[in-house]
Amino acid sequence: MSKQFSKDMFQGKTYKMFIDGEYVPAEDNALFSVEDPFDSSEIAKVAEGKKADIDLAIRSAERAFNEWKKVTKAERAEIIEKMGALFEKSLDRLAVLESYQTGRPIREMKAQLSRLPEWFKYYAAVLRTMEEHVRPFGEGYHAFSSRMPLGVVALITPWNHPLLILTKKLVPALAAGNCVVIKPSELAPLTTIELGEIANAAGLPKGVMNIVPGFGKEAGVALTKDKRIAKIDVTGGTETGKVIAGIAGNNLTKISCELGGKASVLFFDDMDVDRAVNAAVFAAYIAAGQTCVQGARLLVQQSVYAEFIDKLVQKVKSIKIGNPLDPNTQMGPLISENQRNIMKRYT
Ligand code: NAD
Repeated sequence: MSKQFSKDMFQGKTYKMFIDGEYVPAEDNALFSVEDPFDSSEIAKVAEGKKADIDLAIRSAERAFNEWKKVTKAERAEIIEKMGALFEKSLDRLAVLESYQTGRPIREMKAQLSRLPEWFKYYAAVLRTMEEHVRPFGEGYHAFSSRMPLGVVALITPWNHPLLILTKKLVPALAAGNCVVIKPSELAPLTTIELGEIANAAGLPKGVMNIVPGFGKEAGVALTKDKRIAKIDVTGGTETGKVIAGIAGNNLTKISCELGGKASVLFFDDMDVDRAVNAAVFAAYIAAGQTCVQGARLLVQQSVYAEFIDKLVQKVKSIKIGNPLDPNTQMGPLISENQRNIMKRYT
């Protein structure tokens, strides 16, 4: 267990949605449960956002946009940098909660989250140093290009790397002067909801970042169908991406999708076999194999195949499976029973 933080600190809490700088209940007071994938016990109850809550969040973001777009790049950089610094201070707490809700080993989550403050630093630096262009055009004309924010942007995230995926969407969106409505995964929304406190403490104006937890079919659909949304950025399964891209196409809403995928890893006979086996096991088994870049196919040169497979099997057998919050655990549970049933069909 982490020295300072343990799962008891989060157990039994009720997490609200974050709209206009305040933690508020759902309009109809609905709640849903978030479960510990390790033993299916309830971690916390979460406000269940629906169409009315999405509407409130979008209205709050629209109001905030009128002011946020006028904030200078230097001021935006300062706020974003402060958010990053506060995020960094909260790493231990967030890593425990991330591990608890995703079932991913605490050692993985500590390593993954420790890199995220870099995104805040990077975009603060981009804001301070970015150049725009004056373009030669013709006698009597002065042509220049300038990047403008889009407006209210929807950020929809999956459960497998909740804060990682969110950070790489959120920070550039804010840096560019957009306001956001975030719809985290219903399976793991808790760390995302905690970011509201960080945003307030960093001085992010109210309404610039709104978080509406809830289910894809309800909150997600309401968000993606709303014509006030200037852009949708979604990471999730391929089928989800197709549905959302269809809606975006129909409304001519800009969209970025990062969807399901698997990777091939190639091994040649000039490799150091032990290092290569470590890399192969990491690629295949991180997050219990539930990632979009999982090294699902290993292509090994025939001359070293036997040695490689022999060492690979030994290494896989040595993986320590157990409680995600035990620092010795190398692999935790799958996220849900549904996911386990899907996996069983692969064997
Ligand atoms: P998911 O598709 O079930 O859900 C992703 C998000 O979309 C959730 O917030 C969900 O509530 C929402 N959603 C679902 N249906 C929706 C709808 N009809 N309208 C609007 N929103 C909807 O995916 P998941 O199980 O949370 O995540 C795992 C998937 O994400 C895997 O397929 C994985 O490969 C993929 N992934 C991709 C990347 C990448 O960068 N390409 C990164 C991480 C995960």
